[in-house]
Amino acid sequence: MLLESYKITRILPCLADPEKIRVIAEVTGEIHEAFPYLNAILKGCIYNHPALTLTIKKNGKLFTLHAHHITLAKIEDEKEAEEILKWLKDLINEAYENRDRIEPNFSKGAELKALDIYKLLPGTSCKMCGELTCLAFAVKLVGQEIEMGKCSPLFSEAYQEKRNVLLELLNAAGHNVSPLSLGS
Ligand code: SF4
Repeated sequence: MLLESYKITRILPCLADPEKIRVIAEVTGEIHEAFPYLNAILKGCIYNHPALTLTIKKNGKLFTLHAHHITLAKIEDEKEAEEILKWLKDLINEAYENRDRIEPNFSKGAELKALDIYKLLPGTSCKMCGELTCLAFAVKLVGQEIEMGKCSPLFSEAYQEKRNVLLELLNAAGHNVSPLSLGS
């Protein structure tokens, strides 16, 4: 069994929806060996093989698998988080146990959408980045035509959580988010 157990270690407010929560669970061992097989059997994943992350979209929720932890976004409550983690655990183990019968998929899969990025921006269309609107910025960011660091409001404390999720998404999608591009 690749994933024997997991433990919820952090529960945070959800960024896209303040009524919901964001959950981080640590896993025993390393689970990344299952990612190319999950990427082969699940639709709409974003797989970043070099960074060892796999993002799964399901029913409007976002689950990002890392080698040592799992992040769940837009979750109702801890009970739902436990149900999703149990589902993920079974899925990871099943995919790994059947790996001899699955053709691994190392491609990046579904591309990140501008709207996914837009939801994580301040949304004020303040123009400080040089774009007329946050949506225009999101379109350029998804196309890697502008750097995340150009949105200075995103680097204020108020947007720390959104910024972290955006960083996670960009990394998962294989974007090069270097400390330099963040202006630090
Ligand atoms: S600086 Fe950020 S908040 Fe302002 S318009 Fe650009 S993307 Fe939107």
